[in-house]
Amino acid sequence: MARPIQELSSLISEFPGIGPRQARRIVQFLLTKTPAFREKLAEILRAIGATTEQCMSCFRYDDSGNGRTCSICANVERDSKILMVVEKDADIENVEASHAYRGLYFVLGGLIPMTERKNASYVRSTELQEKIKKNGISEIILALSTTPEGDYTGRELMDLMKSIKPDLKISFLGRGLSVGAEIEYADSETLRNALKNRA
Ligand SMILES: [Zn+2]
Repeated sequence: MARPIQELSSLISEFPGIGPRQARRIVQFLLTKTPAFREKLAEILRAIGATTEQCMSCFRYDDSGNGRTCSICANVERDSKILMVVEKDADIENVEASHAYRGLYFVLGGLIPMTERKNASYVRSTELQEKIKKNGISEIILALSTTPEGDYTGRELMDLMKSIKPDLKISFLGRGLSVGAEIEYADSETLRNALKNRA
């Protein structure tokens, strides 16, 4: 067996935004905690795959026990004609915290790299088109980061969506945010204003 400190560091360094040095710091931190803390962490890590499901409708991960449809998609009080397209689950958590939005979501699973020609394979664009066709969506809100890659992805998706449903109303949430802003970190007031002024 490989040496545990090294092996754990290498696994943690695969996490988003974590480099090898930070990974080693996290391992050191875990070593300072009690065995009970580490046992609890190991237990949750084992359970998370078994108790969490990916929603077949919006692709977010959910542990509400609703089965294959998450608690947001299953909520009949929400406006199923409006779809907010986000990059990742954390963006949904933040928009939900603002209580400013009552439609449904769709998780793209990333952004389209500007250097790539074969765009579609990087995000769930096929699934998005299917959803628009089947679910009677009348409005799309593109809630992507206001970075060059976010803008590029938004434009590519807009062309794609217009080609399958020309009368679709499409707006960009980011136009109400400052340049470089990420949906995940925007405060509630900013999100409320951006939603109100979406264009
Ligand atoms: Zn869902």
